[in-house]
Amino acid sequence: MSKVIGIDLGTTNSCVAVLEHGEPLVIPNDEGSRTTPSVVAFTRDGDRLVGQIARRQAVTNAPRTVSVAKRLIGRKYDDAEVQKSIDQVNYTIERAENGDAWVRIDGRSWSPQQISAIILEKMKSIAEAYLSEKVTEAVVTVPAYFNDAQRQATKDAGRIAGLDILRIINEPTAAALAYGMGRHGHERVAVFDLGGGTFDVSILEIDNGVFEVRSTNGDTFLGGEDFDNRITTWLVEQFAKETGVSLAGDPVAMQRIKEAAEKAKHELSNTTETEIHLPFVTATPSGPLHLMAELSRARLEALCSDLIDRLEAPCRQALSDARLKPGNLDAVLLVGGMTRMPRVQEKVAEIFGKAPERGINPDEVVAVGAAIQGAVLKGEVKDILLLDVTPLSLGIETAGGLSEPIIGRNTTIPCRKSKVFTTAQDNQDMVRVHILQGEREFADDNKSLGHLEMHGLPPAPRGLPEIEVTFELDSNGILHVQARDRGTGKAQTMRIVSNSGLHEGDIEQMIGDAEQFREQDHERRLAAEARNRLDGLIYTTRRSLDEYEELLEAGNARMIRDALTLAEQAMETGGSPVILQAHEGLAVAAQRIAESIYAAARSHPPNETAGGVGPSLALGGELIDDE
Ligand code: AMP
Repeated sequence: MSKVIGIDLGTTNSCVAVLEHGEPLVIPNDEGSRTTPSVVAFTRDGDRLVGQIARRQAVTNAPRTVSVAKRLIGRKYDDAEVQKSIDQVNYTIERAENGDAWVRIDGRSWSPQQISAIILEKMKSIAEAYLSEKVTEAVVTVPAYFNDAQRQATKDAGRIAGLDILRIINEPTAAALAYGMGRHGHERVAVFDLGGGTFDVSILEIDNGVFEVRSTNGDTFLGGEDFDNRITTWLVEQFAKETGVSLAGDPVAMQRIKEAAEKAKHELSNTTETEIHLPFVTATPSGPLHLMAELSRARLEALCSDLIDRLEAPCRQALSDARLKPGNLDAVLLVGGMTRMPRVQEKVAEIFGKAPERGINPDEVVAVGAAIQGAVLKGEVKDILLLDVTPLSLGIETAGGLSEPIIGRNTTIPCRKSKVFTTAQDNQDMVRVHILQGEREFADDNKSLGHLEMHGLPPAPRGLPEIEVTFELDSNGILHVQARDRGTGKAQTMRIVSNSGLHEGDIEQMIGDAEQFREQDHERRLAAEARNRLDGLIYTTRRSLDEYEELLEAGNARMIRDALTLAEQAMETGGSPVILQAHEGLAVAAQRIAESIYAAARSHPPNETAGGVGPSLALGGELIDDE
């Protein structure tokens, strides 16, 4: 049975884990790191880079390097979050035909689903390399606050990557699973998850293997990037004050400052003072300018104090929704790299009245939980049951533009609920069900998930028809809607896909593109391997030629030298076929060296008694007949 992997598809970093012999294992990538930057880049030559290698070249290739795609996935271009990202990233975000936010690089448009698919594919290949087997199934985590469109879009990303996403689970829930596996008894825990892009908090009840999410809350506009931006803005202002030069319009300088800002933030989690030094940050007619600044932990905390304050309200709301007081909690778990910041930890302790748990790796715990859930779905782990909740209310628009909830926030999923509605006008022959997500009273203030139309109602005075609307929320948090006329029994159903951004045809097309890239990548690997082989053969042939040239006939030596020249030319300029040909030519020519060595040995046999007999070579007991 093939393994199900757990993937934490993070805004800044992703992590993959698997359960082996009942134990969760975080899988290191090809560079030995246990997390991989969620960064995708396209080079000038059209090559695709993912992870650390993409992140490393971000400074020099900023407009072709896509980071924080998770902030765009499943969102419209006009969404406030997208508008905010446009100012913060160095690549182009465009409005796609369907109104979604897409990425544009070198004249080609990419949906965030495709970018996320590239990251998922990378995580899949990391797992495959480690497990030495193909992986086709995964559990992927999303912030608890992700709405239907964002979840659906994440599932689509999985399909494009060739992964069957068996389940989407919420990041804090995954963390609680990782914490609670193997623990007995009854515990109430809060999971506080502050990552690169979002903030989530969940309250869970763990009772002998049953994990029940009691409430969840958060802020999709709050994460580590906001802290980095505060430092970046401060640095740019300081620089402008000192030199009179604004760096704001210089993407390379801004990228360097952003990276330095994040590094300084990390350092200030361990020290109280750090220096930021960026030589040659820009050039003016009077010469190059360097950026130098000193940042203290206290100043960082002052720059970000309002961000820290915004952590409080979602925690209080989650506690109140779970009908708990801080004192009722048994543990507080920290998730996400930002929870390494001392001020964040202090704030957590202030809010919950207790120090957070130690000994949990905030970067890995979510992927571990996803891997555990994968094993639960496969039946490998039996004593765990996960009962998650929906983070936002789901309802429909009613007369006067009101929003009428059908499934309330924090309802345990999967669930199914119905309500009966009627018509607003006489002889209405159709009803249009406008499906909404959110807590606001008016439809306009909530997120529109789509419309379901039911035609062919028999003529009737208003208020008489009975239209039953049923919402079914599956375990991935994805909504299925049915409207049924109780009079005629006629029904209309839909799965909410319209706002995931991609239609079936788009997805098929993207799967095809991804496969094409897989083929290209495969071919590129074969080409690289052929080059490496030829490089190795050139090296050994040259060495052997230097050593044994006097044993070779002049004609043979010339032939080998010619083959070497051809091979070196092929290495300089040749494509795959030329490299393969050159390899074959050189391999045949190089055999002459060995032939000459053995021929010389035969005509001058060594004196066997002279140096004694060395250890015999036992090659499967085969003796080579000399004559
Ligand atoms: P995640 O999305 O969980 O990978 O969290 C990434 C965020 O955590 C980024 O904003 C990082 O800059 C931040 N982060 C990682 N390590 C540290 C650290 N030692 N101190 C402060 N922030 C950190």
